[in-house]
Amino acid sequence: RRLLVGATALHDEGDEGIIAVIVDVTDVRRLESLRRDFVANVSHELRTPVAAVRSAAETLRTSVVSDPNAALRFVDMIERNAQRLQSLIEDLLELSRIESKEFRLKRERVDIAGVFNIVVGLFRERAERKQIRLDMRIVPPSPQLQSDQRALEQILSNLVENAVKYCPAGSSVTLSAETKGDFVRLAVEDTGPGIDEKHLPRLFERFYRVDAGRSREVGGTGLGLSIVKHLSEALGGKVSVESRLGQGSTFIVVLRA
Ligand code: ADP
Repeated sequence: RRLLVGATALHDEGDEGIIAVIVDVTDVRRLESLRRDFVANVSHELRTPVAAVRSAAETLRTSVVSDPNAALRFVDMIERNAQRLQSLIEDLLELSRIESKEFRLKRERVDIAGVFNIVVGLFRERAERKQIRLDMRIVPPSPQLQSDQRALEQILSNLVENAVKYCPAGSSVTLSAETKGDFVRLAVEDTGPGIDEKHLPRLFERFYRVDAGRSREVGGTGLGLSIVKHLSEALGGKVSVESRLGQGSTFIVVLRA
């Protein structure tokens, strides 16, 4: 641990003494270093697509005007990287919104079947295009929660989006819900590539990726799971993951019923 030690001598009408103060600054230092790492990560993540856009634009200007096919490739590159910047900015804004002091969650009546329908609706086409089966399974009666509908939609969307992104054609993705005593268990299970055990402890950290190249290729920002974790905890719940390489992954969110 890091301790900050200060001492001062006291003279007070003949009384003499020393006051010593020891402050444990371990957590302060740790937060500072986390913040520094975060800023460095963000800068790096922003710089890469900006550099790609600039170099594509430069190439377009100087050399490929006469070759329309080559020009199209560079336009694609600009579009892809602009998209990446947009996702990154949206995720960063979402994280900062969640972390801000003004962030308030609603307590409204939420029907889980309704949330599942919305989320499946958002990803149905994308899953079909990739030949991924997207199903839901709710153990009746459909759980009702006093919670924040938008936050739950965001949590499940991020998990389903990941499953659809990382699973190959032919896989299936299942959203499930079940009430167990005082708790509601929501899960997004896939039959995709799975995640090596050694990555699991750090998976929910900002910008942590198992395979950075693959994540960027499929449009990942590295922030999706950290948003899931923040929101789940803000709702008084917990998120966890069970995964086996080559067999698939299950992300589980447990909330108070
Ligand atoms: P990203 O934007 O890179 O997807 P996330 O925070 O959402 O970032 O996820 C972190 C990493 O966890 C991903 O880069 C990916 O390697 C891994 N991952 C997340 N979900 C899955 C999944 N369903 N199957 C396999 N790997 C996954």
